[in-house]
Amino acid sequence: MPTKDRSLTDRLAGLIAAAGPISVAQFMAEANAHYYATRDPLGAAGDFVSAPEISQMFGELTGLWLADLWDRAGSPANAHYVELGPGRGTLAEDALRAMRAGRFEPPIHLVETSPVLREKQATRLPTARWHDDIDTLPDTGPLLVVANEFFDALPIRQIMRTKAGWHEIMVDHQDGAFLPGASGPTLDSLVPEPLRDAPVGSVIETSPAVESAARALATRIAAQGGAALIIDYGYQGFATGDTLQAVSSHEYADIFAEPGERDLTAHVNFSMLESLGRAAGLAVYGPADQGGWLESLGIGARTAALAKAAPHRQAELVAARDRLTQPDEMGTLFKTLAVVNPNWPAPAAF
Ligand code: SAH
Repeated sequence: MPTKDRSLTDRLAGLIAAAGPISVAQFMAEANAHYYATRDPLGAAGDFVSAPEISQMFGELTGLWLADLWDRAGSPANAHYVELGPGRGTLAEDALRAMRAGRFEPPIHLVETSPVLREKQATRLPTARWHDDIDTLPDTGPLLVVANEFFDALPIRQIMRTKAGWHEIMVDHQDGAFLPGASGPTLDSLVPEPLRDAPVGSVIETSPAVESAARALATRIAAQGGAALIIDYGYQGFATGDTLQAVSSHEYADIFAEPGERDLTAHVNFSMLESLGRAAGLAVYGPADQGGWLESLGIGARTAALAKAAPHRQAELVAARDRLTQPDEMGTLFKTLAVVNPNWPAPAAF
C-alpha cells in the first residue's frame, strides 16, 4: 500500500487559498499525476483490473489484429509498435508474442509518465524505449499504436448550465474539503450548438488533453502511415452528463476526497476522436463493442485452444472470455475505435 502523502492535498489547498478555485481539469491532472507516479494501481490488490490483466487473450488478439494489418499493408520493415499508457506492460508483452508468430517484430515505444510503471514495463519489455509524450516518437516509419484505458485517465473540463449561462465547474477548498461548484468563467463558446439549450444544471465535458493527444497521433499516422487502436469506455454524439468517477480498491469512491490516492477517470468522447481522425485525413472504423470485436477476432476459438492445452484451466478461461465479451460485463461498455492511414488496408473485425 502506498503511504498517504499529505503534500498534494496541502499544495492544492494552498493554491486555492492563494489564487481561488481551480478547474476540475487541473484537479484531475494533479491528482492522477500523483496517483500514477506513486503506485501500480492494477490487479486484485490494487484499485482496478483492466482487460489485459484479465486474460492473455486480450493482448494476443490485439497483436494478431496489428500483425494482420501490417502484413496486408505489405509488411513495411520500418514500422514501430507504440503503446500509450501501457500499465504493467502486459498487453504489449502478449501482443508482441502473438506478432512474433506472424514474423512482425517491431521496435517498441512506450508513452508513459509514471516512473513506477516504467520500471514494471522494463522487466517485461527490456528493449523498449520510453517517451513522456507523443511528440518524441520516431518521425519516420509507420506507427502501430494501441491505447487501452489511456484516454479515460486524461483530465477533463466540466461546464455547467446555470441561470446565467454555461460556466466552468471549479473546485474550491472549504473546511478541509474540496468542493466542486459552477463558479468559473463563462464558456458558452465551448458548448456545442445542439446542447446550448440544455436545462439548468446540465453538465458537459471537454478534454483539451485528449484532443491534443489525439490530434498529434492522427497527424503522425497521416504523415508516416500505420493505425491507432483505441479501446476505452465512452459515448458517441452530443451528450450532457457528469462522467467523472473515482475508483479505489475496486469500489467507486468520493472523487474529491484524498486527491492523488484514487484513480480518476471520465468517459471518452468517441465522436470527438472520430472527427479529429477524419480531419487529419484518416479512415475511421468503429466504434465497435469490445465484445463483438473480440468475437470477430476469434476469442471463442482461442479460449477453446487454450483450454484444450490446459484442461484444468477451462472454467477460468471461459470466465475470462465472458468478462471481456458479455454485455453485462465489459463487452458493450468498452468500445474499440481504429483510425487508419488512408493508404493502408481496412483493419479486421470492424
Ligand atoms: N493500458 C494499461 C494501463 C491503463 S491505466 C492497462 O490496460 O492495463 C492508465 C495508464 O496511462 C497508466 O500506465 C498511467 O501511468 C498512464 N498515464 C496516465 N496519464 C498519462 C499521461 N498523461 N501520459 C502518459 N501516460 C499516462
